[in-house]
Amino acid sequence: MSELKLCQGPKCHQHQTKDRLKGPKDNKTYQTRRRSSMYYGSGSFCSMQCYNDWAEIFIDRAVDHFGRLTEPKHLTEDNAWQKTYDWNSNDETLYVYRNGITKEERPLTKQQYHDTNYTLNER
Ligand SMILES: [Zn+2]
Repeated sequence: MSELKLCQGPKCHQHQTKDRLKGPKDNKTYQTRRRSSMYYGSGSFCSMQCYNDWAEIFIDRAVDHFGRLTEPKHLTEDNAWQKTYDWNSNDETLYVYRNGITKEERPLTKQQYHDTNYTLNER
């Protein structure tokens, strides 16, 4: 059995749904959801509601902590590479990097396409 994670939503236990009502028969309480995997906020939240509850309270502090933008970023040839895919006439998937400014395309393997660390963009 895989380990269960707790939803990080600060109000998860306040959303009164049947699946959150847990405990012994005579002493059930609404509790934070526990799941083996969650789909929201990189796997930390059970729902968009819980994700938004967290953001409402913590997002300003998080943005300040990791660095608030003070001037606009610019799209340049060096950071305009985007992964995309298409199908050829044999219905095979073709993965490519396409530069949004120069329109140049470079072939990608399926593995490179799915590897979030693999990029042609300057960091
Ligand atoms: Zn939750």
